Amino acid sequence: MPSIYDRIYAKSPVWIQNLGISAYGLIWQRRRFGPPFSQYVADFVTRENFTFTDWRQYQENQVRRLLKHANRYVPYYRQNYKNIFRDSKEIDRWILDDLQNIPIVEKEVIRHAPDEFVSDLSREERLYSYDTSGTTGTPLVVKFNADMEKAAAAAYEARIRRWAGVHYKMSRAMIGGRIILPKAVNQPPFWRYNLAEKQLYMSAFHISPANAKHYVAALNHYRPDYLVGYASSHFFLARMICEQGLDVYQPKAVLTSSEKLTLEMRTTIEKAYRCRTYDGYSGLEACCQASECEQGKMHISPDVGVIELLDEQNNPVKNGEVGQIVATGLLNYAQPLIRYKTGDLGIISYEKCDCGREMPVLVELVGRLEDTIIAPDGSETVRFHGIFVGLPHIREGQVIQESLTHIRLRLSVTPDFNDEDRATLAKRFSDRLGLEVFVSLEFVDQIERTERGKFRAVISKIKRQSSQ
Ligand SMILES: [Zn+2]
Repeated sequence: MPSIYDRIYAKSPVWIQNLGISAYGLIWQRRRFGPPFSQYVADFVTRENFTFTDWRQYQENQVRRLLKHANRYVPYYRQNYKNIFRDSKEIDRWILDDLQNIPIVEKEVIRHAPDEFVSDLSREERLYSYDTSGTTGTPLVVKFNADMEKAAAAAYEARIRRWAGVHYKMSRAMIGGRIILPKAVNQPPFWRYNLAEKQLYMSAFHISPANAKHYVAALNHYRPDYLVGYASSHFFLARMICEQGLDVYQPKAVLTSSEKLTLEMRTTIEKAYRCRTYDGYSGLEACCQASECEQGKMHISPDVGVIELLDEQNNPVKNGEVGQIVATGLLNYAQPLIRYKTGDLGIISYEKCDCGREMPVLVELVGRLEDTIIAPDGSETVRFHGIFVGLPHIREGQVIQESLTHIRLRLSVTPDFNDEDRATLAKRFSDRLGLEVFVSLEFVDQIERTERGKFRAVISKIKRQSSQ
Protein backbone atom coordinates (compact mmCIF):
# COMPACT_ATOMS: atom_id res chain seq x y z
CA MET A 1 0.00 0.00 0.00
CA PRO A 2 1.35 3.47 -0.82
CA SER A 3 2.37 5.43 2.27
CA ILE A 4 0.71 8.72 3.19
CA TYR A 5 3.83 10.49 1.88
CA ASP A 6 3.50 8.74 -1.48
CA ARG A 7 -0.11 9.85 -1.73
CA ILE A 8 0.66 13.47 -0.85
CA TYR A 9 3.60 13.42 -3.27
CA ALA A 10 1.43 12.11 -6.14
CA LYS A 11 -1.05 14.97 -5.70
CA SER A 12 1.50 17.80 -5.40
CA PRO A 13 2.73 20.16 -8.12
CA VAL A 14 6.23 19.55 -9.53
CA TRP A 15 7.93 22.29 -7.47
CA ILE A 16 6.57 20.85 -4.23
CA GLN A 17 7.72 17.40 -5.35
CA ASN A 18 11.19 18.81 -6.01
CA LEU A 19 11.20 20.35 -2.54
CA GLY A 20 10.04 17.09 -0.97
CA ILE A 21 12.70 15.10 -2.81
CA SER A 22 15.35 17.65 -1.76
CA ALA A 23 14.31 17.49 1.90
CA TYR A 24 14.43 13.71 1.75
CA GLY A 25 17.83 13.97 0.04
CA LEU A 26 19.15 16.16 2.84
CA ILE A 27 18.14 13.70 5.56
CA TRP A 28 19.52 10.82 3.52
CA GLN A 29 22.81 12.64 2.95
CA ARG A 30 23.32 13.41 6.65
CA ARG A 31 22.65 9.82 7.52
CA ARG A 32 25.22 8.51 5.07
CA PHE A 33 28.01 11.05 5.00
CA GLY A 34 28.32 12.07 8.65
CA PRO A 35 31.27 10.82 10.74
CA PRO A 36 32.86 8.27 10.62
CA PHE A 37 32.10 8.08 6.85
CA SER A 38 35.40 9.75 5.83
CA GLN A 39 37.41 7.48 8.10
CA TYR A 40 35.69 4.45 6.63
CA VAL A 41 36.49 5.65 3.09
CA ALA A 42 40.17 6.06 4.05
CA ASP A 43 40.19 2.51 5.48
CA PHE A 44 38.69 1.04 2.32
CA VAL A 45 41.28 2.88 0.21
CA THR A 46 44.19 1.68 2.39
CA ARG A 47 43.08 -1.94 2.18
CA GLU A 48 43.37 -1.86 -1.61
CA ASN A 49 47.12 -2.39 -1.07
CA PHE A 50 46.50 -5.74 0.62
CA THR A 51 47.98 -8.89 -0.88
CA PHE A 52 45.82 -12.01 -1.28
CA THR A 53 47.34 -13.28 1.99
CA ASP A 54 46.53 -10.04 3.82
CA TRP A 55 42.95 -10.26 2.59
CA ARG A 56 42.60 -13.80 3.83
CA GLN A 57 43.82 -12.81 7.27
CA TYR A 58 41.54 -9.79 7.30
CA GLN A 59 38.48 -11.83 6.32
CA GLU A 60 39.32 -14.53 8.86
CA ASN A 61 39.37 -11.97 11.68
CA GLN A 62 36.19 -10.31 10.48
CA VAL A 63 34.35 -13.61 10.11
CA ARG A 64 35.33 -14.66 13.65
CA ARG A 65 34.13 -11.35 15.00
CA LEU A 66 30.83 -11.65 13.11
CA LEU A 67 30.28 -15.28 14.16
CA LYS A 68 30.84 -14.43 17.82
CA HIS A 69 28.35 -11.61 17.55
CA ALA A 70 25.75 -13.72 15.73
CA ASN A 71 26.20 -16.72 18.01
CA ARG A 72 25.64 -14.57 21.06
CA TYR A 73 23.12 -11.92 20.04
CA VAL A 74 21.15 -13.03 16.97
CA PRO A 75 18.28 -15.46 17.78
CA TYR A 76 18.29 -17.37 14.49
CA TYR A 77 22.02 -18.09 14.54
CA ARG A 78 22.09 -18.72 18.30
CA GLN A 79 19.57 -21.48 17.76
CA ASN A 80 21.23 -22.90 14.65
CA TYR A 81 24.82 -22.75 15.89
CA LYS A 82 24.04 -24.54 19.17
CA ASN A 83 25.58 -27.76 18.02
CA ILE A 84 28.40 -26.13 16.11
CA PHE A 85 30.09 -23.97 18.74
CA ARG A 86 30.35 -24.95 22.36
CA ASP A 87 31.96 -21.63 23.30
CA SER A 88 33.35 -18.51 21.67
CA LYS A 89 36.94 -19.75 22.13
CA GLU A 90 36.17 -22.33 19.53
CA ILE A 91 35.39 -19.58 17.03
CA ASP A 92 38.87 -18.14 17.60
CA ARG A 93 40.35 -21.32 16.22
CA TRP A 94 38.28 -21.21 13.05
CA ILE A 95 39.91 -20.58 9.73
CA LEU A 96 38.10 -19.14 6.73
CA ASP A 97 37.43 -22.55 5.13
CA ASP A 98 35.54 -23.63 8.26
CA LEU A 99 32.75 -21.34 7.15
CA GLN A 100 31.63 -24.30 5.06
CA ASN A 101 30.50 -26.06 8.25
CA ILE A 102 27.78 -23.50 8.83
CA PRO A 103 24.32 -23.96 7.31
CA ILE A 104 23.30 -21.86 4.32
CA VAL A 105 20.54 -19.31 4.77
CA GLU A 106 17.86 -19.21 2.07
CA LYS A 107 15.93 -16.03 1.33
CA GLU A 108 12.69 -17.76 2.25
CA VAL A 109 13.89 -18.33 5.83
CA ILE A 110 14.61 -14.64 6.36
CA ARG A 111 11.39 -13.63 4.68
CA HIS A 112 9.51 -15.90 7.02
CA ALA A 113 11.02 -14.66 10.27
CA PRO A 114 12.91 -11.42 9.64
CA ASP A 115 13.04 -10.47 13.32
CA GLU A 116 14.91 -13.63 14.19
CA PHE A 117 17.83 -12.18 12.24
CA VAL A 118 17.92 -8.89 14.13
CA SER A 119 20.59 -8.64 16.81
CA ASP A 120 19.45 -8.27 20.44
CA LEU A 121 21.85 -5.34 20.67
CA SER A 122 19.95 -3.53 17.92
CA ARG A 123 16.47 -3.92 19.36
CA GLU A 124 16.71 -0.58 21.13
CA GLU A 125 18.61 1.20 18.40
CA ARG A 126 17.05 2.95 15.44
CA LEU A 127 17.01 0.65 12.44
CA TYR A 128 16.37 1.47 8.83
CA SER A 129 15.03 -0.97 6.37
CA TYR A 130 15.38 -1.51 2.70
CA ASP A 131 12.74 -3.32 0.67
CA THR A 132 14.15 -5.42 -2.10
CA SER A 133 12.71 -7.97 -4.43
CA GLY A 134 16.07 -9.20 -5.73
CA THR A 135 16.54 -11.59 -8.62
CA THR A 136 13.61 -13.91 -7.88
CA GLY A 137 10.97 -11.31 -7.17
CA THR A 138 10.95 -12.47 -3.56
CA PRO A 139 10.19 -9.47 -1.39
CA LEU A 140 12.71 -9.15 1.41
CA VAL A 141 13.22 -6.48 4.02
CA VAL A 142 16.84 -5.85 4.96
CA LYS A 143 17.42 -3.99 8.22
CA PHE A 144 20.52 -2.02 9.11
CA ASN A 145 21.71 0.66 11.50
CA ALA A 146 23.30 4.05 10.87
CA ASP A 147 26.83 2.69 11.19
CA MET A 148 26.28 0.02 8.57
CA GLU A 149 24.77 2.57 6.21
CA LYS A 150 27.89 4.73 6.50
CA ALA A 151 30.16 1.74 5.98
CA ALA A 152 28.24 0.65 2.86
CA ALA A 153 28.24 4.23 1.53
CA ALA A 154 32.00 4.39 2.16
CA ALA A 155 32.57 1.14 0.24
CA TYR A 156 30.60 2.59 -2.67
CA GLU A 157 32.53 5.85 -2.49
CA ALA A 158 35.98 4.25 -2.25
CA ARG A 159 35.58 1.51 -4.81
CA ILE A 160 32.87 2.57 -7.24
CA ARG A 161 32.91 6.37 -7.50
CA ARG A 162 36.62 6.86 -6.82
CA TRP A 163 37.66 4.24 -9.40
CA ALA A 164 35.53 6.07 -11.97
CA GLY A 165 37.20 9.39 -11.09
CA VAL A 166 34.18 10.98 -9.39
CA HIS A 167 33.13 11.60 -5.76
CA TYR A 168 30.01 11.96 -3.66
CA LYS A 169 30.03 15.75 -3.64
CA MET A 170 29.73 15.94 -7.42
CA SER A 171 26.40 16.34 -9.19
CA ARG A 172 24.80 13.36 -10.87
CA ALA A 173 21.88 12.26 -12.98
CA MET A 174 20.19 9.06 -11.96
CA ILE A 175 17.88 6.82 -13.97
CA GLY A 176 16.18 4.41 -11.62
CA GLY A 177 13.04 2.51 -10.81
CA ARG A 178 11.49 4.93 -8.36
CA ILE A 179 8.13 6.21 -9.54
CA ILE A 180 8.49 9.99 -9.63
CA LEU A 181 5.55 10.48 -11.98
CA PRO A 182 2.94 8.10 -13.38
CA LYS A 183 3.35 6.67 -16.82
CA ALA A 184 0.06 8.25 -17.93
CA VAL A 185 1.73 11.69 -17.74
CA ASN A 186 3.08 12.28 -21.23
CA GLN A 187 4.39 15.80 -20.90
CA PRO A 188 7.86 16.69 -19.56
CA PRO A 189 9.39 17.11 -17.03
CA PHE A 190 10.05 13.39 -16.71
CA TRP A 191 12.50 14.12 -13.91
CA ARG A 192 12.73 15.76 -10.52
CA TYR A 193 15.63 17.67 -9.04
CA ASN A 194 17.10 16.93 -5.62
CA LEU A 195 18.89 20.10 -4.64
CA ALA A 196 20.48 18.65 -1.49
CA GLU A 197 22.34 15.98 -3.41
CA LYS A 198 22.63 17.86 -6.73
CA GLN A 199 20.86 14.91 -8.22
CA LEU A 200 18.70 14.91 -11.33
CA TYR A 201 16.39 11.94 -10.89
CA MET A 202 15.02 10.79 -14.26
CA SER A 203 12.14 8.37 -14.73
CA ALA A 204 13.12 5.03 -16.23
CA PHE A 205 9.58 4.55 -17.50
CA HIS A 206 9.25 7.50 -19.88
CA ILE A 207 12.32 6.97 -22.05
CA SER A 208 10.86 6.63 -25.56
CA PRO A 209 11.87 7.82 -29.04
CA ALA A 210 9.45 10.73 -28.73
CA ASN A 211 10.70 11.77 -25.28
CA ALA A 212 14.46 11.35 -25.83
CA LYS A 213 14.91 15.01 -26.83
CA HIS A 214 13.33 16.14 -23.54
CA TYR A 215 15.72 13.97 -21.52
CA VAL A 216 18.65 15.42 -23.46
CA ALA A 217 17.38 18.96 -22.85
CA ALA A 218 17.30 18.28 -19.09
CA LEU A 219 20.80 16.77 -19.16
CA ASN A 220 22.14 19.74 -21.12
CA HIS A 221 20.46 22.14 -18.71
CA TYR A 222 21.76 20.59 -15.47
CA ARG A 223 25.03 19.19 -16.90
CA PRO A 224 25.54 16.65 -14.06
CA ASP A 225 29.16 15.60 -13.43
CA TYR A 226 28.32 11.94 -13.93
CA LEU A 227 25.44 9.61 -14.73
CA VAL A 228 24.32 6.61 -12.69
CA GLY A 229 21.59 3.98 -12.83
CA TYR A 230 20.22 0.97 -14.64
CA ALA A 231 22.51 -0.19 -17.45
CA SER A 232 19.65 -0.87 -19.84
CA SER A 233 17.86 2.44 -19.23
CA HIS A 234 21.07 4.31 -20.01
CA PHE A 235 21.54 2.09 -23.03
CA PHE A 236 18.03 2.79 -24.40
CA LEU A 237 18.47 6.52 -24.00
CA ALA A 238 21.97 6.44 -25.50
CA ARG A 239 20.72 4.46 -28.48
CA MET A 240 17.99 7.03 -29.12
CA ILE A 241 20.52 9.86 -28.76
CA CYS A 242 22.71 8.21 -31.42
CA GLU A 243 19.83 7.29 -33.72
CA GLN A 244 18.31 10.75 -33.62
CA GLY A 245 21.68 12.52 -33.71
CA LEU A 246 20.84 14.52 -30.57
CA ASP A 247 23.45 16.89 -29.22
CA VAL A 248 24.26 15.99 -25.61
CA TYR A 249 26.91 17.40 -23.24
CA GLN A 250 29.88 15.28 -22.12
CA PRO A 251 29.74 13.91 -18.54
CA LYS A 252 32.86 12.63 -16.72
CA ALA A 253 31.66 9.03 -16.47
CA VAL A 254 28.63 6.75 -16.58
CA LEU A 255 28.24 4.31 -13.66
CA THR A 256 25.83 1.50 -14.36
CA SER A 257 24.39 -1.09 -12.01
CA SER A 258 21.60 -3.58 -11.40
CA GLU A 259 22.02 -5.56 -14.59
CA LYS A 260 24.74 -6.85 -16.79
CA LEU A 261 26.37 -4.24 -18.97
CA THR A 262 26.82 -5.95 -22.34
CA LEU A 263 29.47 -4.90 -24.84
CA GLU A 264 26.80 -3.39 -27.07
CA MET A 265 25.38 -1.36 -24.20
CA ARG A 266 28.84 -0.11 -23.24
CA THR A 267 29.79 0.85 -26.79
CA THR A 268 26.51 2.70 -27.37
CA ILE A 269 26.62 4.62 -24.08
CA GLU A 270 30.26 5.60 -24.64
CA LYS A 271 29.48 6.73 -28.18
CA ALA A 272 26.57 8.90 -27.04
CA TYR A 273 28.38 10.57 -24.10
CA ARG A 274 32.03 10.35 -25.21
CA CYS A 275 33.15 9.20 -21.75
CA ARG A 276 33.90 5.88 -20.07
CA THR A 277 31.26 3.57 -18.64
CA TYR A 278 31.91 1.63 -15.43
CA ASP A 279 29.96 -1.49 -14.52
CA GLY A 280 29.24 -2.20 -10.87
CA TYR A 281 27.49 -4.77 -8.74
CA SER A 282 26.31 -4.18 -5.24
CA GLY A 283 23.51 -6.21 -3.83
CA LEU A 284 20.99 -4.22 -1.86
CA GLU A 285 21.63 -6.58 1.02
CA ALA A 286 25.11 -4.96 1.13
CA CYS A 287 26.97 -8.24 1.45
CA CYS A 288 28.62 -8.23 -1.94
CA GLN A 289 30.19 -5.47 -4.00
CA ALA A 290 32.18 -5.52 -7.22
CA SER A 291 33.53 -2.56 -9.15
CA GLU A 292 35.36 -1.97 -12.39
CA CYS A 293 39.03 -0.94 -12.28
CA GLU A 294 40.94 1.04 -14.92
CA GLN A 295 41.85 -2.26 -16.62
CA GLY A 296 38.17 -3.03 -17.11
CA LYS A 297 38.11 -5.88 -14.54
CA MET A 298 35.33 -6.22 -11.96
CA HIS A 299 37.02 -6.60 -8.58
CA ILE A 300 35.13 -8.02 -5.64
CA SER A 301 35.57 -6.09 -2.38
CA PRO A 302 36.63 -8.70 0.20
CA ASP A 303 35.99 -6.26 3.05
CA VAL A 304 32.30 -5.97 2.14
CA GLY A 305 31.57 -9.67 2.10
CA VAL A 306 33.03 -13.15 1.91
CA ILE A 307 31.87 -14.65 -1.36
CA GLU A 308 31.63 -18.39 -1.96
CA LEU A 309 30.68 -20.05 -5.24
CA LEU A 310 28.81 -23.30 -4.71
CA ASP A 311 27.37 -26.04 -6.90
CA GLU A 312 23.88 -27.49 -6.50
CA GLN A 313 24.99 -29.77 -3.66
CA ASN A 314 26.44 -26.69 -1.94
CA ASN A 315 30.04 -27.78 -2.50
CA PRO A 316 32.61 -25.22 -3.67
CA VAL A 317 32.97 -25.17 -7.46
CA LYS A 318 36.38 -25.49 -9.13
CA ASN A 319 38.24 -22.32 -10.08
CA GLY A 320 36.78 -20.76 -13.21
CA GLU A 321 33.47 -22.63 -12.96
CA VAL A 322 30.07 -21.07 -12.59
CA GLY A 323 28.48 -21.31 -9.13
CA GLN A 324 25.74 -19.90 -6.96
CA ILE A 325 26.86 -16.81 -5.10
CA VAL A 326 26.63 -17.30 -1.35
CA ALA A 327 27.66 -14.23 0.63
CA THR A 328 28.56 -13.40 4.20
CA GLY A 329 28.14 -9.68 4.76
CA LEU A 330 30.87 -8.14 6.92
CA LEU A 331 29.25 -4.74 7.44
CA ASN A 332 25.81 -5.42 8.87
CA TYR A 333 25.77 -6.28 12.58
CA ALA A 334 22.14 -5.26 13.08
CA GLN A 335 20.78 -8.02 10.84
CA PRO A 336 23.75 -10.21 9.92
CA LEU A 337 23.55 -12.32 6.78
CA ILE A 338 25.86 -15.30 7.09
CA ARG A 339 26.17 -17.69 4.15
CA TYR A 340 23.23 -16.04 2.50
CA LYS A 341 22.15 -17.40 -0.88
CA THR A 342 21.83 -14.36 -3.12
CA GLY A 343 20.11 -16.11 -6.03
CA ASP A 344 22.79 -14.91 -8.47
CA LEU A 345 25.23 -17.09 -10.37
CA GLY A 346 28.81 -16.07 -11.08
CA ILE A 347 32.36 -16.99 -12.07
CA ILE A 348 35.33 -15.70 -10.04
CA SER A 349 39.04 -15.59 -10.89
CA TYR A 350 41.91 -15.23 -8.41
CA GLU A 351 44.52 -14.24 -10.99
CA LYS A 352 46.40 -11.00 -10.56
CA CYS A 353 45.10 -7.99 -12.48
CA ASP A 354 47.37 -5.51 -14.27
CA CYS A 355 46.02 -2.73 -12.03
CA GLY A 356 48.00 -4.32 -9.18
CA ARG A 357 45.09 -4.85 -6.80
CA GLU A 358 44.99 -8.36 -5.36
CA MET A 359 41.25 -8.50 -5.17
CA PRO A 360 39.34 -11.38 -6.81
CA VAL A 361 37.78 -10.69 -10.19
CA LEU A 362 34.13 -11.34 -10.96
CA VAL A 363 34.59 -12.73 -14.47
CA GLU A 364 30.95 -13.20 -15.18
CA LEU A 365 27.69 -12.58 -13.43
CA VAL A 366 25.12 -14.91 -14.92
CA GLY A 367 21.49 -14.20 -14.49
CA ARG A 368 21.36 -10.46 -14.64
CA LEU A 369 20.49 -10.30 -18.31
CA GLU A 370 16.75 -9.94 -18.46
CA ASP A 371 14.14 -9.41 -21.09
CA THR A 372 12.73 -5.94 -21.31
CA ILE A 373 9.12 -4.81 -21.19
CA ILE A 374 7.82 -2.47 -23.88
CA ALA A 375 5.02 -0.01 -23.16
CA PRO A 376 2.48 0.88 -25.89
CA ASP A 377 4.40 4.14 -26.56
CA GLY A 378 7.57 2.21 -27.42
CA SER A 379 9.48 2.89 -24.19
CA GLU A 380 11.45 -0.04 -22.85
CA THR A 381 12.07 -0.93 -19.23
CA VAL A 382 13.91 -3.69 -17.45
CA ARG A 383 13.90 -4.74 -13.87
CA PHE A 384 10.43 -4.11 -12.77
CA HIS A 385 11.90 -2.79 -9.60
CA GLY A 386 9.22 -1.96 -7.11
CA ILE A 387 6.52 -4.24 -8.46
CA PHE A 388 6.78 -6.79 -5.65
CA VAL A 389 8.55 -4.91 -2.86
CA GLY A 390 6.75 -4.58 0.43
CA LEU A 391 4.19 -7.26 -0.49
CA PRO A 392 4.93 -10.01 2.04
CA HIS A 393 2.17 -12.29 0.72
CA ILE A 394 4.10 -12.86 -2.49
CA ARG A 395 6.73 -15.58 -2.38
CA GLU A 396 7.97 -15.20 -5.93
CA GLY A 397 6.81 -13.34 -8.97
CA GLN A 398 7.44 -13.47 -12.68
CA VAL A 399 6.36 -10.93 -15.29
CA ILE A 400 5.45 -12.21 -18.76
CA GLN A 401 4.70 -9.77 -21.54
CA GLU A 402 2.24 -11.47 -23.90
CA SER A 403 1.61 -8.42 -26.10
CA LEU A 404 1.96 -4.63 -25.96
CA THR A 405 -1.24 -4.39 -23.95
CA HIS A 406 -1.26 -7.67 -22.00
CA ILE A 407 0.97 -8.60 -19.08
CA ARG A 408 0.63 -11.97 -17.43
CA LEU A 409 1.82 -12.08 -13.85
CA ARG A 410 2.74 -15.47 -12.45
CA LEU A 411 2.71 -15.51 -8.69
CA SER A 412 3.48 -17.90 -5.92
CA VAL A 413 1.61 -16.49 -2.93
CA THR A 414 0.83 -17.24 0.72
CA PRO A 415 -2.78 -17.90 1.84
CA ASP A 416 -2.97 -14.29 3.05
CA PHE A 417 -2.80 -12.83 -0.45
CA ASN A 418 -5.86 -10.55 -0.80
CA ASP A 419 -7.72 -7.94 -2.84
CA GLU A 420 -5.58 -5.15 -1.49
CA ASP A 421 -2.49 -6.89 -2.87
CA ARG A 422 -4.25 -7.24 -6.24
CA ALA A 423 -5.12 -3.54 -6.28
CA THR A 424 -1.55 -2.56 -5.36
CA LEU A 425 -0.15 -4.66 -8.20
CA ALA A 426 -2.62 -3.21 -10.72
CA LYS A 427 -1.72 0.34 -9.64
CA ARG A 428 2.00 -0.32 -9.84
CA PHE A 429 1.68 -1.63 -13.39
CA SER A 430 -0.43 1.27 -14.60
CA ASP A 431 2.04 3.74 -13.03
CA ARG A 432 4.81 2.13 -15.04
CA LEU A 433 3.15 1.18 -18.31
CA GLY A 434 0.08 3.38 -18.62
CA LEU A 435 -3.60 2.68 -18.26
CA GLU A 436 -4.19 0.75 -21.48
CA VAL A 437 -2.26 -2.30 -20.31
CA PHE A 438 -4.26 -5.25 -19.01
CA VAL A 439 -2.69 -7.33 -16.24
CA SER A 440 -3.84 -10.90 -15.63
CA LEU A 441 -2.81 -12.93 -12.61
CA GLU A 442 -1.91 -16.59 -12.63
CA PHE A 443 -1.26 -18.44 -9.39
CA VAL A 444 1.33 -21.21 -9.32
CA ASP A 445 2.93 -23.30 -6.58
CA GLN A 446 6.42 -22.45 -7.69
CA ILE A 447 8.05 -20.65 -10.55
CA GLU A 448 10.27 -23.01 -12.50
CA ARG A 449 13.97 -22.29 -13.08
CA THR A 450 15.77 -22.64 -16.40
CA GLU A 451 18.01 -25.64 -17.00
CA ARG A 452 20.94 -23.70 -15.52
CA GLY A 453 18.99 -22.91 -12.41
CA LYS A 454 18.45 -19.34 -13.45
CA PHE A 455 15.32 -17.53 -12.47
CA ARG A 456 13.76 -15.53 -15.29
CA ALA A 457 12.12 -12.53 -13.64
CA VAL A 458 10.87 -11.03 -16.89
CA ILE A 459 9.92 -12.84 -20.09
CA SER A 460 8.87 -10.97 -23.20
CA LYS A 461 7.05 -12.62 -26.09
CA ILE A 462 7.26 -9.56 -28.27
CA LYS A 463 9.50 -10.08 -31.27
CA ARG A 464 12.05 -7.37 -31.80
CA GLN A 465 15.66 -6.72 -32.61
CA SER A 466 17.92 -8.49 -30.16
CA SER A 467 19.43 -6.07 -27.65
CA GLN A 468 22.38 -8.33 -26.91
ZN1 LIG B 1 42.18 -4.44 -11.81
